[in-house]
Amino acid sequence: MACCALMPAGSAARPVEDPAQFLARAESLRTEDHSRFVRMLEQIHRDAPKLSPGEQWHLRYLDAWETMFEGDYARSEAELRQVIGRSGDETLAAKASALLLNNLATNRRYEEAFALANRLVADLYRTRDPLIRFTLLTNLSQMLDYAGQTDLAIQYARMAEDAVPPGETLCRPFAMQAAALYNGKRLTSDSPELQRAIDACVAAREPVFANAMRLTLGSLYVDENQPAKALALFDRMAADIRASHYYPHMLSAKVERARAYAELGNDDEARKAALAAVAMSHPDDISEWLVVAYELLYRIEKKLGHSAAALSYYEHYVVQDKGYLNDVGARALAYQVSQQHMLAQKLETEKLGRQNNVLRLQQALATKAIETGRLYIALLLVVLVSIVFWLFRLKRSQLRFKKLSCHDGLTGIFNHQHFVGEAERTLRLLERKPGSACLVFIDLDHFKRINDTHGHAVGDAVLKRVVAICRQQLRPVDLFGRLGGEEFGILLPDCPRDQGLAIADRIRLAIEASSVDGDGVVVSFSASVGLASTETSGYGLQRLCRDADAALYRAKRTGRNRVIADAEREEGGAPPVPIRYGQA
Ligand code: GH3
Ligand code: MG
Ligand code: MG
Repeated sequence: MACCALMPAGSAARPVEDPAQFLARAESLRTEDHSRFVRMLEQIHRDAPKLSPGEQWHLRYLDAWETMFEGDYARSEAELRQVIGRSGDETLAAKASALLLNNLATNRRYEEAFALANRLVADLYRTRDPLIRFTLLTNLSQMLDYAGQTDLAIQYARMAEDAVPPGETLCRPFAMQAAALYNGKRLTSDSPELQRAIDACVAAREPVFANAMRLTLGSLYVDENQPAKALALFDRMAADIRASHYYPHMLSAKVERARAYAELGNDDEARKAALAAVAMSHPDDISEWLVVAYELLYRIEKKLGHSAAALSYYEHYVVQDKGYLNDVGARALAYQVSQQHMLAQKLETEKLGRQNNVLRLQQALATKAIETGRLYIALLLVVLVSIVFWLFRLKRSQLRFKKLSCHDGLTGIFNHQHFVGEAERTLRLLERKPGSACLVFIDLDHFKRINDTHGHAVGDAVLKRVVAICRQQLRPVDLFGRLGGEEFGILLPDCPRDQGLAIADRIRLAIEASSVDGDGVVVSFSASVGLASTETSGYGLQRLCRDADAALYRAKRTGRNRVIADAEREEGGAPPVPIRYGQA
């Protein structure tokens, strides 16, 4: 009942100097002095072309307010939606939204109203503007009260009470709280919440709200069996109600009067007041007040034995009661629907959030998997490189070992064993081809003396020099090895005997021609050379060695520093004469 009472309820024709201030003043008077407000609107409309865009939007908002006050809800709604969507003024849009909320609720478009209310609640937590906050809070409180949500309505009204901006008063927050308490059946005629609301609204010169609160008080008096007190109050405020031209208040005042008279047993006055209320109503009206009015009329006519009239009122009563209960139910249902809708949206958002989280986790896992994969690859590469490096070192040391095992430590040429092995292999190949080869043995002459005279180091230097000289004379295919001490062996593959002798003698001559430095002393040396050829000795190494060795022995015996070949034949005493090179 009180919620309806809270719906909204008027200068001289002179040029407007400050339109913004003029509009603000008009707005502040809209309920306090409605007729002046209407006159001010007419005045400012004459100056409309001179107004700034912002001032024009403000004027459109006030026009929408007045249009709604006059009951043209559809036109008002269209205007309010323009202000909300196009004005670009946040404060004006919030006020227009609050008014639209009332508009929708008045027209029983509850679901739309609660959907809008939910959006406004969301705005509430974003906005810092005190006036917007206050406007939203009071309107939301009213909507929640309308939906039967008493506690929430009181909660929003208390928030508004704590957030009254300059230019506003405690009237609305107090009135909202009292209305919610009344609708929640928690108010009595002596409740301090009601008296402070009346006082605040009277002081604030808010006649619509003050009347609403006083009507509530009167209604409570009737409920509490104090009809005389109620009638006295209604008498005192009759002029104010008439002045406001506010239909819900005029209707409720008549009905409350009827109730009070009925309680006093004054059926006549009760009937008169109830009929006045019915006469005031519009044909399609469904109202809690009309429920009460028709019920009263029915009872009175019944008491008087006017069955036909009683039945007729009863029928009206049933229509109104059913309509009203339907309306209450529709409000509550619409509220629940909008809450469910909001909850569903919230759940959907949370679900999306969870899905996003899952996706983020999956991405993180995938990234981790890639990183781990990369780590494995890097690790594998390190292992591979290590293995390759290790194999390389192994191969190198194997080669070194091999070299060490095959080569002579001092001179770097083949050692005895390796020389023999390679020589055997070469000879076998030559034998199959076939091709001739020469085996040459070289032994330094009186080498011991060099050691003894110049020292071991000089002896070593001589050995190295001899090796170097030999290498210069040899081909890559020739095999060259140290057979021991100061003895060397050379296998000359694909080399006829004559050519072998020539090579052997070139070597001997080169050795003879060279010298090393032995602590400032020139140390000269020579070598004796023995040669055996496959042409005479065959391809057996043993035989070749023996023959070469015999030739060498002969070279020593016959004076050193010379080349001897085919010693065995000479030894055997048979021709041919051994070929001899070098000193006689
Ligand atoms: P001949 O003309 O009869 O061959 O006399 P020779 O002194 O050359 O022969 P002998 O067999 O009596 O002496 C060989 C010497 O070679 C004895 C040994 O000390 C020396 N010798 C062996 N191996 C090496 C070596 O690696 N370095 C040096 N500096 N001397 C060595
Ligand atoms: Mg020797
Ligand atoms: Mg010697």
